[in-house]
Amino acid sequence: MDKLSDQQLFKQFSYINGSWHSSETQLEVTNPATGECIARVSNSGITETNMAIKAAKNAFKMWSEKSANERAKLMRNWFDLLMQHQDDLARILTLEQGKPLNEAKGEIAYGAAFIEWFSEEAKRVYGDTIPAPANDKRIVVIKQPVGVVASITPWNFPNAMIARKAGAALAAGCTFVARPASETPLSALAMAELAERAGIPAGVFNVVVGDDAKGMGKVLSEHPDVAKFTFTGSTAVGKILIGQCASTVKKVSMELGGNAPFIVFDDADIDAAVTGAIASKYRNAGQTCVCTNRILVQQNVVTEFTEKYTQAVTKLNVGDGTIEGISIGPMISKKAAKQVDKLVDESIKAGAKLVYGGKFDSAGDNFYQPTILTHVNNDMPIASNEIFGPVSPIISFADEHQAIQLANDTEYGLAAYFYSRDIGRIWRVSEGLEYGMIGVNEGLISNAAAPFGGVKQSGNGREGSKYGLDDYLEIKYLCMGGI
Ligand code: NAP
Repeated sequence: MDKLSDQQLFKQFSYINGSWHSSETQLEVTNPATGECIARVSNSGITETNMAIKAAKNAFKMWSEKSANERAKLMRNWFDLLMQHQDDLARILTLEQGKPLNEAKGEIAYGAAFIEWFSEEAKRVYGDTIPAPANDKRIVVIKQPVGVVASITPWNFPNAMIARKAGAALAAGCTFVARPASETPLSALAMAELAERAGIPAGVFNVVVGDDAKGMGKVLSEHPDVAKFTFTGSTAVGKILIGQCASTVKKVSMELGGNAPFIVFDDADIDAAVTGAIASKYRNAGQTCVCTNRILVQQNVVTEFTEKYTQAVTKLNVGDGTIEGISIGPMISKKAAKQVDKLVDESIKAGAKLVYGGKFDSAGDNFYQPTILTHVNNDMPIASNEIFGPVSPIISFADEHQAIQLANDTEYGLAAYFYSRDIGRIWRVSEGLEYGMIGVNEGLISNAAAPFGGVKQSGNGREGSKYGLDDYLEIKYLCMGGI
């Protein structure tokens, strides 16, 4: 942290109602690459969560009554500051989360792009007029902010998962309470520092940090003053939170787990497919919700694909993300690495063949080697579970029909990818895949202009794009009579 050029970005307190709030106990933040404690953050809990909700409620009238232009200007300032401090923010992110610095810089730019995008969209919250069934009536539709928004986000994208939600909420005129993952609170607190410098008024953007996920989550999802709850994380926790939100009938958005298939047809450009699969699989050490989870390859090109893919994987360097040239950082914890190792072992016992990797890496406790397994089938643990680690299971298939059937054979429906050069097939497969997002000859699909989100048990709601504001707006219909 002493290498930050702006030391004020390193904050160790919750940010509530425009003030930094200390607590009696502290929460240790560790660097997953070294195990070293890098910060002791005030450990907030239920009391501070209630305070943050109250601050957001009090600020709502003032913020929602600002013109869209005023909100847009403040958000633009925030975007500019995030980009000006990209290097420092990336360093904080790598130190608490582990991803290589270049990837962390990419996340800062990606997250900031949502603040920029929604600052522009704030001015385009259009209503509607509808032809009325009677001559003396007029029907008008307006859109209004829902109110206080509460969020819970995971450790794998400590900046961007908050930016995607807060950007839309603030643009719509809502106020916001963020509760980041307890492993990675520092990126969220640095965002709060920059929100304050940007001129975003007290109470509009609050960050409560604490390790009582259950207790804080219960308050955020059940509080009557929270109008909307938005969550990114696992499907299992998402289901609990949806249940809790039912008590006050909140608007709910869920960005949950995935099990992305990456399909390579025999008419594909195999080299392009290899490049796309590497990008989609190994980013963030395989710890992203849209990561390739299963590689499905048509049987007559499986040997060629596997050889070329293995060649590419051998070039990936494992190590501390702050070191130049590292492409795979640590996993978030030893427990997470052990879980991946267990999936690999069980699948080998069930008949999968280890082609590359398959062990903990010598770089340190939390590191796992990039791994390739072949002769995998959809029922093996490595295919049926969300891996969340740097392992590529390769499954072969006979034809298009079987590829779609295997790809859809999961309760998840977040992202899917396929490579083909046949235009008819591209349409058929795009329409046949039960997923919210499809990469066609592309392994990296997420950006602020596009609607991000899943179907089935991967959640509901969309983040980013012109659709992203809808989750933060209520539709109000005015019936004007006596005309
Ligand atoms: P997780 O266990 O569900 O944790 C996510 C967040 O929920 C963390 O802030 C965690 O706090 C909190 N939490 C845990 N238990 C809770 C409870 N009972 N009540 C309230 N909050 C609770 O997920 P994870 O393993 O950290 O993250 C990985 C998952 O997120 C994967 O399934 C991944 O696919 C999904 N994800 C989805 C998207 C998407 O956009 N669809 C994006 C990124 C990640 P603590 O950290 O303090 O425990």
